Amino acid sequence: MSIEYLEIPKCPKCSDGHRYKLKVERSMVIKMMTEADFDEPQRKVRLTRIFTCPTNSEEFQARFVLTDTSSDRIKNVSVVGLADGNE
Ligand SMILES: [Zn+2]
Repeated sequence: MSIEYLEIPKCPKCSDGHRYKLKVERSMVIKMMTEADFDEPQRKVRLTRIFTCPTNSEEFQARFVLTDTSSDRIKNVSVVGLADGNE
């Protein structure tokens, strides 16, 4: 499980930019390293999640893309909340 950050450059509710903290669960794929595996392309995972605008507390849906690697598959993504300024 890792923490990743998502930048929403233009919020649909207030047109401002927000930065959210995401909790990403990945499952490791264990396999024999044969030559073919090295050529396996990265996979882009398209996700839709609900975010809350911190300015007027309204919810909105946003789509974003995270990148998998061949040995590291995205299993679950949840929105923790707004990232504070130090993150
Ligand atoms: Zn907003």
